[in-house]
Amino acid sequence: MPRIVIEGCHVATCDAAATEHEDGYVVLDGARITAVGPGHAAPELRDGAQLVDGSGCLATPGLINTHHHLYQWITRGIATDTTLFGWLTTLYPMWARLDEDSVHASAAANLAWMALTGCSTTSDHHYVFPSDGGDLLESEIRAAQTIGLRFHAARGSMDLGESDGGLPPDSVVEDRDQILAATEQAIDRFNDPAPESMLRIAVAPCSPFSVTGGLMRDAAELARRTGVRLHTHLAETEDEEAFCQTNFGCSPAEYAESLGWLGDDVWMAHCVHLSEPAIERFAQTGTGVAHCPTSNGRLGSGAAPIMSLLRAGAPVGLGVDGAASNESGRMVDELHQALLVARVRDGPVALSARDCLSMATRGGARCLGRSDEIGTLAPGMLADLALWRVDGIPGAGIEDPVCTLVFGAPALERLFVSGRPIVAAGQLLTADTEQLAAEASRVARVLQRQPT
Ligand code: ZN
Repeated sequence: MPRIVIEGCHVATCDAAATEHEDGYVVLDGARITAVGPGHAAPELRDGAQLVDGSGCLATPGLINTHHHLYQWITRGIATDTTLFGWLTTLYPMWARLDEDSVHASAAANLAWMALTGCSTTSDHHYVFPSDGGDLLESEIRAAQTIGLRFHAARGSMDLGESDGGLPPDSVVEDRDQILAATEQAIDRFNDPAPESMLRIAVAPCSPFSVTGGLMRDAAELARRTGVRLHTHLAETEDEEAFCQTNFGCSPAEYAESLGWLGDDVWMAHCVHLSEPAIERFAQTGTGVAHCPTSNGRLGSGAAPIMSLLRAGAPVGLGVDGAASNESGRMVDELHQALLVARVRDGPVALSARDCLSMATRGGARCLGRSDEIGTLAPGMLADLALWRVDGIPGAGIEDPVCTLVFGAPALERLFVSGRPIVAAGQLLTADTEQLAAEASRVARVLQRQPT
């Protein structure tokens, strides 16, 4: 790949000092960033390079999505007026019909949308594996490779079916031994622990109400033995709090800790209902939180205590969550939602625009264990960069480009992942978006049709 020099843009590096250059440059050399600064790049860096005119644009690290369910793109707009548990029980029977074709089409369309809304690294939590569905994890990994995003695939699972007191129907749960074997096989086949990795696997039983404590314990052991990270949903709703109090005599956070699930190799989605002592434990242990404000609002789950988590020093990233509970699924919108939700909960000075950008970049990198490689524009970091148009109608009248990014509605101009152009002039370069949409519509029609 030729060296790429982006100049003339506002650069928000998202480094520890939150350094910004009002008129700056970034140099991408292969998969890495080699220079960032104010003004123009040095002549020897510009010589022979591809020059990108960044005027009217804001450069940020590519956004990092720490929680998602890509397969849900094809079941959006369903059960729109019910609780999490009501929503899940409506959707489980549709998800029981997932197969390789539907998961691939859904993931590809959803990943394209993530790229077009500024996301360079996404995790995905896939936890529905019907017995006759085929290799669903491989299907979404193939989609991620086609679209070109850095991918952290969390191999999810459920082993607590309705007949054992869990929420999901027995048709979508798996046997514990089978889950552990399939997860270990996925780690062996796909996990690339090397620097510059485009693909990592995490171990990710679904939630306290769909997974046995035994599987949670064994999953933690498997992840630690194989050196991968742990992910799950936790403390999302009051119903879950009641479920844990009834079944385990403690809160979800206490339950997680009793199973060995707090630690700096763990990140968990939601964490809406955390007590002050639980927040302290998250901070002390370095347990990460994937904050999903849009999904929490859509399902009326509540407003997570993000200010308290940040003040305590816990890692906090942002997640769009699955598209069935965040239909628009735009990564950049999650920054705005995080700010609004924090202010509804904690008042008018809770979270600044820059706090939100930091969560979506540095915070996300910390949750995924990639702080040394992504989430910051600095020499030596991976060349994952989003360039946003802040000079059009959405940015007109807003002087501060970071405010346009968070409060406004900026359009993405370019996206690079490991220096590879994924989006240019607002268009996806790696796949035909019309074809992706047609494929997603086709499989959605099949999946949503009631069986006769
Ligand atoms: Zn989720």
